[in-house]
Amino acid sequence: MPNVPITVAHGDGIGPEIMSATLHILKEAGARLDIETIEIGEKVYLRGNPAGIDSASFESLRRTRVFLKAPITTPQGGGFKSLNVTTRKAFGLYANVRPCLSYHPFVETKHPRMDVVIVRENEEDLYAGIEHRQTADVMQCLKLITRPGTEKIVRYAFEYARAYGRKKVTCFTKDNIMKLTDGLFHEVFDTIGAEYPDLEKEHWIVDIGAAKLADTPEVFDVIVMPNLYGDILSDVAAQIAGSVGLAGSANIGDGCAMFEAIHGSAPRRAGQNLANPSGLFLGAIQMLIHIGQSDVAERAHNAWLRTIEEGVHTYDIHDPSSSKEKVGTREFAAAVVARLGKRPEVLREARYGNAPRRPLTDRPPYVRPSDPKALVGADVFIEFLGRPPELAARLQPLCADGLRLEMLSNRGMKVWPGGLEETFTVDVYRCRFQLPETNPGPLAHRAVTALLDRITASGLEFVKLEGLYTFGGKPGFSRGQGQ
Ligand code: NAD
Repeated sequence: MPNVPITVAHGDGIGPEIMSATLHILKEAGARLDIETIEIGEKVYLRGNPAGIDSASFESLRRTRVFLKAPITTPQGGGFKSLNVTTRKAFGLYANVRPCLSYHPFVETKHPRMDVVIVRENEEDLYAGIEHRQTADVMQCLKLITRPGTEKIVRYAFEYARAYGRKKVTCFTKDNIMKLTDGLFHEVFDTIGAEYPDLEKEHWIVDIGAAKLADTPEVFDVIVMPNLYGDILSDVAAQIAGSVGLAGSANIGDGCAMFEAIHGSAPRRAGQNLANPSGLFLGAIQMLIHIGQSDVAERAHNAWLRTIEEGVHTYDIHDPSSSKEKVGTREFAAAVVARLGKRPEVLREARYGNAPRRPLTDRPPYVRPSDPKALVGADVFIEFLGRPPELAARLQPLCADGLRLEMLSNRGMKVWPGGLEETFTVDVYRCRFQLPETNPGPLAHRAVTALLDRITASGLEFVKLEGLYTFGGKPGFSRGQGQ
């Protein structure tokens, strides 16, 4: 079988040591790789490149489409962009897959039966990075959840579960509060889940779900969630399984993928032959399966499991009661190589014979919903320092074209009509102008622009506009709290 070209970056801090150790094991296990090495991270940032990766390196990634990446150091101070976020977005790596498994009784853990895979959406949610300062007092960050983005990640989670013989897929959202954004994620989970009758499905509100995950992780199998919850909870899950130093991660896109450890460059441990290479190594195991070298993945992974079982441990997981030998990075890699061909006796053996023969990213073509859309009003965000009745009195005379001032809210809470004296307000009001329910619209766009002109002419400052639309007659906007 021909070699597979991959791009490798040795990174910063402990990166070069754990990468050498990982590549050494892969080579000895028989991985068929043609390696292109690129430089990323601290040196590139400090050369004045704010992205931390130059265009020649990007070209290598475009050629090989497989990236094995050691952790990097992001220099202190502003202006440097996260290389991880850039790579994920540039190559559409929408699925972040993090298996979090405990290795009881060989690695200390409170959760001996934990075996959870977190599938985190990687591109959307609050990580779209759309932030604005609206006024002296208010900062805003936009949470974006899209139907095609959610369909991709949810389908990936179900395909992953099926391909790896998992039994259950759980979804975490906060759709009791964010009914439209997290509501869409939950709805897509239910719709796509119905196509997988062989798998058990459940949904948890993220707060209680997270508590349950930290308390009894063994009741979960595969968990799919939006970006922010997934970012936080995948670290929690890795840590409670035993150590962040043991978890690897895959970032999967339609035509490209990146594999790494979940931890950072641990600069204080650099250059001392101390670091545990296991996180990067387990990321590399996912890479071998991805490029169709499941035989090598199985051989290397089983030798690693045997090494852990025989108590050959780096300092971070070393415990006098369960470890036999405390070793450095290089010695650990040598110990794994010495066990190639062996299998674990207590821990569950890795078997990748049935690992997917086709990319898990196959999916039916996206069908965009065709519900007729009608403009029925606008939420105009206005800077105002006074009390709500005062603002309402100034806005009501500006209504025309059938629009009515329906509500004022402040920080999402309805403060007019009605509203309490006690409610705290800041300097941005959301002012909802809407057609009455008896009028289904559509409202002409020029009615909204004319309204904005009248607001400006009256001496008020609008800082943002959001159209109110119905889709097939159903409102595409949430009500104010208390409305
Ligand atoms: P870190 O994960 O690098 O290290 C935290 C601590 O965990 C270390 O001090 C060490 O005690 C331990 N540790 C981590 N990995 C280990 C390993 N393989 N073996 C043994 N012990 C290990 O987190 P940090 O100190 O917050 O960040 C250091 C740098 O890494 C920062 O510049 C940060 O931006 C960067 N970082 C990079 C990535 C990445 O490239 N994917 C991810 C996270 C952090």
